[in-house]
Amino acid sequence: MPEVLLSTHDLKAGYGDFQALFGIDLTLNRGEVLALIGANGAGKSTLLKAVTGLVSCRSDMVRFHGKEIGGQRPDRIAREGIALVPEGRRLFRSLTVEENLIIGGEHAKSGAWSLERIYSLFSILAERRKNPGTALSGGQQQMVAIGRALMANPDVILFDEISLGLAPVVIKDIYAVLPKIVDSGVSAILVEQDVSRALSVAHRFVCMQEGKISLAGQPSQFSRAEVTAAYFGT
Ligand code: ATP
Repeated sequence: MPEVLLSTHDLKAGYGDFQALFGIDLTLNRGEVLALIGANGAGKSTLLKAVTGLVSCRSDMVRFHGKEIGGQRPDRIAREGIALVPEGRRLFRSLTVEENLIIGGEHAKSGAWSLERIYSLFSILAERRKNPGTALSGGQQQMVAIGRALMANPDVILFDEISLGLAPVVIKDIYAVLPKIVDSGVSAILVEQDVSRALSVAHRFVCMQEGKISLAGQPSQFSRAEVTAAYFGT
């Protein structure tokens, strides 16, 4: 039986009076990459925000290692071992690459990830370690954002749109490191607009539509047409 690391249970969340999620049940098993796909506004980012405490929800709606964590403060959830690579990277642009990475390692759990290991994953960051965030390309910023999340030695890493706005060759480089991250013992949820790319690396996927799950399973179980129908709600 797979070990369930993270799960949501009838997860409902939103913004003030606006409800964005209507009862989401999903699980992430240890060692797994779960792709979360869906059109703009489907609720993917809101789901990641609810899991990381950035959007509030009831405590029993999110469980991590079997413990209720829904509605806890983001810093507490991060310390439990869930790291977010946010959409838009959100680096401290005036700080150097290395300073950004070190910040990610504050209050880190013990584990395999260190500055040196991040630099061996992304050798360009070793060359740029003294450069400020402002001097980096979009792809390099994304590498720093991933490295910063790994520095916390999380059990689970949540990627929100890692390929957004990046050139195809850079996206390829970023996706190439994903298996290495998973092999190090980190499980992942991957929110991605590029459905083919996400499904090519995922063990399982969940497709969302208007705040609900419209299809879920292993990529090989469904035809492209079935996934497209679930994506667009047709
Ligand atoms: P995208 O790919 O565009 O980020 P998404 O699937 O991640 O889409 P969400 O960002 O989770 O979707 O948005 C779900 C719904 O919640 C949308 O209707 C969106 O307009 C709304 N929403 C998102 N953020 C806010 C906010 N801060 N305040 C109010 N409504 C929001």
